[in-house]
Formats: sequence, structure tokens, C-alpha cells
Amino acid sequence: MLCLRDSIRDDDPSVQRLLRVLEDADSLTALLLAAWQVARVLAVHMVEAVLAERARRPTAWPPCPVCGTSLRSKGFARRQLTSLLGPIHWRRRVGRCPHGCDIPQVAPLDAALGVQPHQRTSGELQCLGCALAVFVPFATAARLLGWYCGGVVSPHAVWGWVQAAGHQAMECLHADLAAGAQGHEPTPEPLAAEQAALPLALGADGVMVPFRPEGGTPKGKIRWREIKVGVLARLGRHRTRTGQLVTRLHQRRLVAVLGDIEALTPRLWLEALRQGIRSAAQVVWLSDGGRGLWRLYEERFARHARGILDFYHAAQQLWRGAAAWLDGRTTQARRWFGWARHRLRHGMPDGVLADLTEALDVEGLPETARETLRTVYAYLHRHREHINYDIYKDLGLPLGSGMVESACKWLIQQRFKGVGMRWSEDGFNHLLHLRLAWVNGRFEALFGLTLSPNL
Ligand SMILES: [Zn+2]
Repeated sequence: MLCLRDSIRDDDPSVQRLLRVLEDADSLTALLLAAWQVARVLAVHMVEAVLAERARRPTAWPPCPVCGTSLRSKGFARRQLTSLLGPIHWRRRVGRCPHGCDIPQVAPLDAALGVQPHQRTSGELQCLGCALAVFVPFATAARLLGWYCGGVVSPHAVWGWVQAAGHQAMECLHADLAAGAQGHEPTPEPLAAEQAALPLALGADGVMVPFRPEGGTPKGKIRWREIKVGVLARLGRHRTRTGQLVTRLHQRRLVAVLGDIEALTPRLWLEALRQGIRSAAQVVWLSDGGRGLWRLYEERFARHARGILDFYHAAQQLWRGAAAWLDGRTTQARRWFGWARHRLRHGMPDGVLADLTEALDVEGLPETARETLRTVYAYLHRHREHINYDIYKDLGLPLGSGMVESACKWLIQQRFKGVGMRWSEDGFNHLLHLRLAWVNGRFEALFGLTLSPNL
């Protein structure tokens, strides 16, 4: 160890200061942080040494894009980039056209390294910055990133990376949607046999997000706009330590769009194909009473999926009926509601519907109460095929659309509805698609990286 430390010391005087801090550190935390700085600087040295060695190798010059003559070296020029380890410097040959064509200078080593001419930060730093921005505000992401790279990262830089990466994610999606519209179906995602045997559940809901009024300025009144969110998952069953059997979601995938149900439909269908809707043994659609979403179900998914109306929404409707018919304060109303709810849950929805029909015939019922009862009856009647809760329970299916609501909360609420937040359309869309890439396990691929802890 002493030997290593001595050789480091000899190598670079700038490391000496860091080593002294390391040796003088009092607490273990201070010791580790000091060691981290040393490691970072040494890693920069290693990277720069490799780059210097590569720069010395002979350069294969490409032809001039204007006249076709082979470019010629103008000597070495410096290049700098901010990386996860801090600033990295290297010198490499740059070339120009010997005929003086008006082209930017060319650096073949940079091109081989995948570095773009105007790039100022390296890919892994941008990737980490975007990953942080998926969860925390840009300013926080920038500060955390600064801790890693030992420098200052501006929130605006992080914002810029998110725009670029989010834009790319949207382009990929649009290409997939265009292919889908042409009849090219995506390849289903690979799934372990035991998960492929599980029921596939899907559903959708809407959630409001605060936007800026027209234009780029954050001033003025908030404009609330609806985001449609769809969720797909395999329904596993899990026994808790207390012996309770609960649903556990596997392979959860989300889709979302700033737009209407017509915009959601092809996205949800694309993801349903990826999640094996054509081959799943059982498919269920879970939703509350929202009409537009049930229309989406009828038009697109009814052929593949069994629809389940959220039991708690159905029960709420029953209570509305009870309150209108029997006056909400009375014991009678509560007693009928309890009995109706029980029958609804245990396979007797027709008895409940019959009760409601009977109630409509009661003489002396005020017209407003009659109207409420009619609405409640129509609601349950319209969903007659979606309220066979005893069957769903026997099949091990959920009775509620809680998984849809919690997906909305997670995807939207947590990041887009912070205090004082209001979004521009592009800013929102780009970050939304990065969040989607993250939750759907496609984030690393978006950056062309494999980030494995077991390298
Ligand atoms: Zn030329």
C-alpha cells in the first residue's frame, strides 16, 4: 500500500495535496471522501493516458466531403470534455482539406470515440443527469451530479440533456406508431414462462398537470391539461407473512400522452402487443366508470379482454341510489346499501338491479331522487357484463382499478406536480418520455449504454 501511495505521489504533484488531505482525515467519512477524490483524479489520468496513446497512432484521413481529396493533418489540437470523473483533456490530430475547402476541421479520433464536434459533456454524465432528472427537479439533479464529478453542473445543462434524450425517445415511439399504423406489429417482450402464464391486466385513467399559459413565459394563470395514462401488468399472486393472498404486479409497463383518448389508443395498443395481448391466457381491463375509457375498451380491447368495473366505484353509485331513495341519514338507507353491496360483491347484481327498478315505482318519490335512481340503474345496467365480481374473485382477478390509479400517481403526481411547477408542452413531453423509458426498462438502451454493476 505504501508503495502504491509513494508511486502516486511521485507521479503527479497535484495528487500530493489530495493525499495529504487523505492522510490528515479525522473521521471515516472524511477519509472516504478524500479517497474518492484521489480515485477520481487517478481515473482521469488513466483515461488521459489511453487517449494520448491512441492519438499517437497513425490517423486514417477521410476524404474531403466537398472535393473528395484526402484530408491532411494540421497538427495536434486540444480537446476538453466534462465527464463523470471531472474534466478530461486530450490532444489529437485535426485535419483540413489541402485545397482549402470551407469545411469544419475534422478529428478522426473524436469520431472513433463517438464524441460529437460540439459536445461538451460525455455520454455517461448526461445519462446519469437524465436519470436523476427523472426523479428530482433539475437544480437538485445538477447539484447531485456536481458531487460525483467534482465540479459545477448547471441545471440548464441537465435540462438540455433531458430535452435531447426525451426528444429521441419520442422519435422512437413515433417510428413504432407509424410502423403499427402500416400493420407492422412489434415483437412481444420476452417473458419467463411462469410470468407468461399469468393474467395480463390493463387499464387507463386521466390526471391533470399544471401548464404554463400560452408561450414560453411562466407568468400568468396556470392552465390545467389532462394526461392520459395507461398501465399494463401481469397479475401475480403472493402470500404475505400473515397468510393473506394479495395481487403482485410483474412486468409493469406504462404509456402516457398529453392528449385525448384518440392519442392514447394506438400507444396503449402498441404496448399491449409488446406485452403479449395476443398470446396471454387471460386479459382483463380494469377501469372506473369514465365513459370515454370504456368506449376505448369496447372499440379496441373488448375482443381480447374481460372488462371489470372498479367495485368501489360501483358501490359508490349504490350509495348514491340508497341516499336518494331512502334518505342518506336513515338506518334503512344504510341497511339497504349494505345488503346491496353484499349481493353485488357475491354474484347477485341482478337482484340489486331489480331493487332499483322497484324503487323507481315507489309512489311519492321526489323527481330529483327518481332521476338519481335512474342514473344509478343505467350506470350498473350499462356495465352488467363488468360487475360479475364473484367470478373475478374466483379467477384470482382484482376487483378494483387501484393499480391504474397508483400508476398515475407514480408517473405524474410525483414529478410533475411539485410546488410552483408549471410546464411547457415540450418540456413536459421530453421529461415524460424519459420517465416512461425508465419505468419500462428502456432507459439505458436510449443512451446506448449497458450499466451493469457486475462488469
Ligand atoms: Zn476539399
